[in-house]
Order: sequence, then structure tokens, then C-alpha cells
Amino acid sequence: MNTHSTCAVTAEQLEHFKQACKARELRVTPQRIEIFKTVAQSKEHPDAERVFEIVRKTMPNVSLDTVYRTLSSLEALGLVFRVGFSSKARFDADLDEHYHFVCTHCGEVFDVVPASGEQLSIPPEVQHLGRVQKVNLQFSGLCRRCQENKKDL
Ligand SMILES: [Zn+2]
Ligand SMILES: [Zn+2]
Repeated sequence: MNTHSTCAVTAEQLEHFKQACKARELRVTPQRIEIFKTVAQSKEHPDAERVFEIVRKTMPNVSLDTVYRTLSSLEALGLVFRVGFSSKARFDADLDEHYHFVCTHCGEVFDVVPASGEQLSIPPEVQHLGRVQKVNLQFSGLCRRCQENKKDL
């Protein structure tokens, strides 16, 4: 059995979800709600297959294809975003500014939350190009666990 760490979806998050769907004339279907909730509740940055596995428990008729399509439309609405490598995208619904560390060995995605008040310094070359609204930063390397396991080899 693999454990699934979760955090509750706030009423505010759900309301934001509904408003965003309405604004783009996307119907708020039970499936869409369930898929959004699954990503929002999870702290593990699930990939589409993992979302499918979880949603299927309560909605046996959902297809993997629907999950893929729904995740893409939620992404277009800015409700979830992709992290990790494109070949195996993982999804995140936490819209508070944070960065990610992706392990190149096990694929685990870790949240990097800047200390409160801490601001990432934006290189002048970037500021020259326009006004930055969102920073999507991803570090990659070997996570601590993989580093330790490698020692045993
Ligand atoms: Zn790792
Ligand atoms: Zn994250």
C-alpha cells in the first residue's frame, strides 16, 4: 500500500476553481471537481496516472484520457501547473509562490518555500525584457535519499 499524504482543500480554493471555470465557460462537472481536488489535496505533486488511480476509487467510470484532458484544461485556466520533466509531468495546485527540487534519479518533487519576506533577486537581464509576474523555478539533482542509497552501491 502506498500512503498518500493529503491536505484539505479550502472552500476558498474550490470557489476560485468554480469562478475560473465559469469565466472560461467550462462546465463545473463532478469529474472536474474531483480531479482538481485530488491535485489540490495531494502534497506529492501527482502525475496524471496517480491522479487517475485516486479519482477512480470514487469515480470508477473516469478514464485516463479524461484525466489527461482535464488536467490540461485546468492548466490552461491557471488552476494547476506542471512541474518536473516534460516526459513525466507532475501537477501542483498550490498557487502560492514556491519552487521545486526535482530528483533526477527517483523523480520525487520537493517543494521549496522561500522564507517569508524573502524575495528572489531577479537578474537585470530579465527585468529588461519585461515585468515579471510569476517565477517558476525548478532545481534538479539527486535528492538526499538517493544520494545516501548511492553510497551503498
Ligand atoms: Zn531521489
Ligand atoms: Zn509544489
